[in-house]
Formats: sequence, C-alpha cells, structure tokens
Amino acid sequence: MTFIESLTLMLALMYLASLSYWSGQKWGAVATLLCSLGAVAITLYWPLALGLLIALPAALALNRFAPDSLKHDIKINTLREGTQHLLALSLLLVAIQYTINTLLLKQGITPWLMRPDVVDAFLPIAGGIELKAIISLNLWDQTHPAAAVMLAAVLITGLLCKRAFCGWACPLGLVGEYLYSFRKRFIKAEFAPPAWLDWPLRMLKYLLLFALCYIVIGMPAQTIPHYLDGNYHKIADLKMAIFFITPGLITLLCFGLVLALAAWRRQGFCRYLCPYGAMLGILSFASPLKIRRDTQHCLIEAKGMKCDKCTRACPANIIVHTKTTVRSDECQACMRCVAACPKSAALGLGLKSGHRLGHKGLLALVLAALFMLPLGAYLAGFWHSQTPDSIRMELIQVINRIGH
Ligand code: SF4
Ligand code: SF4
Repeated sequence: MTFIESLTLMLALMYLASLSYWSGQKWGAVATLLCSLGAVAITLYWPLALGLLIALPAALALNRFAPDSLKHDIKINTLREGTQHLLALSLLLVAIQYTINTLLLKQGITPWLMRPDVVDAFLPIAGGIELKAIISLNLWDQTHPAAAVMLAAVLITGLLCKRAFCGWACPLGLVGEYLYSFRKRFIKAEFAPPAWLDWPLRMLKYLLLFALCYIVIGMPAQTIPHYLDGNYHKIADLKMAIFFITPGLITLLCFGLVLALAAWRRQGFCRYLCPYGAMLGILSFASPLKIRRDTQHCLIEAKGMKCDKCTRACPANIIVHTKTTVRSDECQACMRCVAACPKSAALGLGLKSGHRLGHKGLLALVLAALFMLPLGAYLAGFWHSQTPDSIRMELIQVINRIGH
C-alpha cells in the first residue's frame, strides 16, 4: 500500500470515526479508531503509521476547532461535494504516481515509486474473473487482488445504499458535473432528449454491462487458473495505462465523444454509458434505503400547496414530488432533493419502516464499504500485487505482442 493510499485510508477512517461521534454513535467512533490503531500495530508498516499520525490529529483538530457548520450542521451538498473533491484529489495523486511508475518501467528503469494497487479498481473484468475464481474454485488471485476487493466494495455500496457510489464518490461523475456547468456558462439551453429517445439511450449502459458480464460469466471455470497465471493478466493494468497515456486517434475521438456527452447532458456519461452505473442501478433495486416522501408532511398533501422543489433539484430528472418512494435505477442517493425540500420531515433517505438515514450516516456507510474492506484485505495479505517489477518491466517491452 503506497503512502497516498495509506493516507487516504486513514483520513477516511478518521472522518468516519468523527461522523460516528457527531451522530452520537460513540461505539462506532471507538471501533473505527481501534481498527486503525490495530492495523498499524499488526503491520508496523510506516506509510500506514504516518497516515494515522497525520489523520488522527487532523480529526481531533476538526472536532476541536471547526465551526458547527462544518461538523454537526454540515449541509448535504457541502458534505457531498467536499467528499467528491477529496476523493478525486487522492485519485489524481494516485494516477500521477502510477503514471511515473509505468513510464519508468517502459524505459527499463526499476521504479523508485511504488505502484498504487488501488488502480486495479479500473480493471472490472479482471475483478469479476477473480471474484468468480474465489467463488467457484476458492482460488485467490495474487496478481491484481485489489481488483476483486474494490469491485466487491463497490457492489456492497450498491446493495446498501443504491448508487451512492456514483453520487458521493465517483470522480468521473464530478468531472461530468464540471463539464456540464462549463458548457452551461456559454450555452444555456438544456439538451435532454425526449423520453422516447432517453429510454433506449439509458439502455446502452446495460448493453455494455451485459457485454462485460458475458466475458466473465462465459469464461469456463477450468480455464480461469490458466488465465490468472498468464502474461496478459499480469500486465492488464499496463495495457490500460498505455491505452490512456498514449492514445491513438480512435481513442481520442472516443474520449472526445464521452466528454461531449457529459457536457451536453447533465450526468450524460453516468446515465447512458457507464457500466458501473448500470451494475449499481440493478443492485439498487435490492437496496433497503430509498428516497421516501412522507405525504403527512409534504406541502402538497399536508397544506394543499404547489411544490416541486425536490423534482427540480434532481440531476437525474426523476419526478420526486408525485412519488412516495423513489425506486428509479438512476437515483444516485445524492440527496439534492432532500436538501432542496423546505419541510425537513417530508423527504429523506430511509427504510420502509420509516427509519431515516441522514447525509452523515449515508457517507459513513459509503466510507465504511469503500475503505474497511480494502483495509481488511490488506491485513489478510490480499491487496498488494505479488508480480515483481522485474517481470512487469520485461513484459511492458513486448506489451503489443501479448494477447489473451
Ligand atoms: S431522487 Fe434525489 S437522491 Fe435520487 S438522484 Fe434525484 S436528487 Fe438525487
Ligand atoms: S420539496 Fe418537499 S415539500 Fe416540496 S414536493 Fe418535494 S417533498 Fe413535498
């Protein structure tokens, strides 16, 4: 685990402890703190220890000196945007470190910067095959274990809290928001397609997901050990890196199209093309947490007033103000609708039983799924790739000749 990964992990865990503390769940804060201290004590790994040494005082200072508007009373949109930006910053640093590592390997120089294993999160097919190997063969891949861990972590967020990963953590969603806002500064018009076109376009991401699942599910179980042991799997991440670092004309055109889509329509990429969004959209139907409208408090039924603030705030164009439960696969649990609602009791993310989960509780769930699982995997020795740099350096020189 690199220093950037360790620091991000410890900052996330300390913030998770703070969120638990502020919500009155002191046991949650103590448990998170003990997990973090335990991880450092068990591994005696200096990046983790240094990460905790930075994150713990930062969390204590936040608790002691930050104004209430940043602790107990933090607004939904502030919390979500702050989280998205911090995670995106961490991923940017990871990407820079990984690019340096890859360029050094390509030049035949032994890297002086470690490869951040979290980049394996961008290998969903490898992650899917590894999960299949674990389930069907009890085979635990040691080449890109983080791919399976991160895929499992994202799947867990989908089961727990709908597409909260998209709404609260995904850096691509954040980039899409910026592109859309930038476009709106110059061209004010909305270009949302009509409903008859929107629906088939939304299905595109499910087609892409189907194609990815077909590769994973269609691979016979007995061929998986051979695949996981092969050179292609060893450099799957390098293939991806070279694809991004030295894009060809067709790749650039595809990037341009994706960026144009994100600028053209709010959440255009998430809505129409992202297979992760499709996977989480399907899982979201099973999630017990949904946006629920309480008609006893909503201004429409309770006071007979006209109100559609929740609907107007929704970036996914979901009609919220006429529903009691939002079941849409496009709902990212971003809680913008809740933030916009003038009656706090009228709208919230909650269970069918009526129990509500506030925005801090939702973030705590997302952080726990995204960071506790990788920490457990790291402690169990199922995070760091066991492929030596010397082999990666050898293989990257002949990368174009290595196929499936
Ligand atoms: S319904 Fe609410 S939580 Fe869901 S996407 Fe729309 S604004 Fe976000
Ligand atoms: S914004 Fe609140 S009060 Fe207005 S329609 Fe939506 S749930 Fe009801």
